[in-house]
Amino acid sequence: MSRGRTDIDRERCKGCGLCVGACPEKIIALSKEQFNAQGLPFAQCFDPERCTACQSCAIICPDAAIRVVRFVAAGEG
Ligand code: SF4
Ligand code: SF4
Repeated sequence: MSRGRTDIDRERCKGCGLCVGACPEKIIALSKEQFNAQGLPFAQCFDPERCTACQSCAIICPDAAIRVVRFVAAGEG
């Protein structure tokens, strides 16, 4: 299984929550006690070990706040 990591730009995030619902692994949540410079909650991946690098979160984000970095395992193209 491909693994990856999400880089979420908290300053671009407006806290809409679309990525939270789009992640099949259910590992994204909006911040509860932290806010960005605009005073908005922002998305965070709370269990990066389970990220499959499927890109669903990055594709659905209307603000291009998420970048998914895919780790290529040994033996994979
Ligand atoms: S790349 Fe896929 S598994 Fe990883 S956080 Fe985004 S939606 Fe979830
Ligand atoms: S979809 Fe984008 S703007 Fe919306 S909560 Fe997720 S990262 Fe933030």
